[in-house]
Amino acid sequence: KEKVKAEESYKLKSSFLANMSHEIRTPLNAILGFTSLLAQNSVDEEHRKKYIELINSNSKLLFFLINDIIDISIIESNQLVLNKTRFNAKRILSDFINFYNFRGEEFVRFSFVNQYMRETLFIVNDAVRFRQVMSNLLNNAFKYTKDGKIEYGYRIQKANVLFYVSDTGIGIKKEEQEKIFDDFYKSKQEKGNAYGGTRIGLALCKRLVHQMGGRIWVESEVNKGSTFFFELPY
Ligand code: ADP
Repeated sequence: KEKVKAEESYKLKSSFLANMSHEIRTPLNAILGFTSLLAQNSVDEEHRKKYIELINSNSKLLFFLINDIIDISIIESNQLVLNKTRFNAKRILSDFINFYNFRGEEFVRFSFVNQYMRETLFIVNDAVRFRQVMSNLLNNAFKYTKDGKIEYGYRIQKANVLFYVSDTGIGIKKEEQEKIFDDFYKSKQEKGNAYGGTRIGLALCKRLVHQMGGRIWVESEVNKGSTFFFELPY
């Protein structure tokens, strides 16, 4: 049994590594390719701008990808130390409104559904990681929603607080709703990498939420939208 388990985990690791090197190579190739194009004397102003934009966006992708991979590796090797404190999660939630409204998405209404009168929601957990999970989910909501609305909020339950991010975007097929939390999973709906992204954001969220003592899941309907939920101990 132990041998089978070790073999399985070895297989998983090698396919993770193979995938990862592919994911790193793609933006890196773009950066190399466009820098050599840029170095040519004949490049006109319009193309120069375009190449610089592409180099910039691919560098950012690489940067976020490497950050996420480092986080995942830290968690996988049981080295993640949560910095648990008692913090006001409501403050963090309220701050997202300013941040995302500033981006000025025209066709998406964005709101924080604040159903409780009180100003505070104290929980004991890692505030930085909490913000990281929320912003991953909000970034995805904006990425996969072209019009309609994006809402987020929380509900206090007995022993947990349930946080959610809801959108009216492209949605996710039933059979894919669990898989999207796997490493490097990309929905079949999306041709190539049409929306961009590191493809491990949700895999990282799942690991972080588990580590924080909670769970994460999605409810979704194709072309209607998705709601991502995660619970943390209250
Ligand atoms: P990516 O960087 O590709 O967005 P994620 O790990 O964050 O990677 O998400 C995995 C996949 O789940 C995405 O590629 C996409 O197919 C799907 N997905 C995530 N969030 C949403 C959403 N809000 N609406 C529709 N599909 C989503």
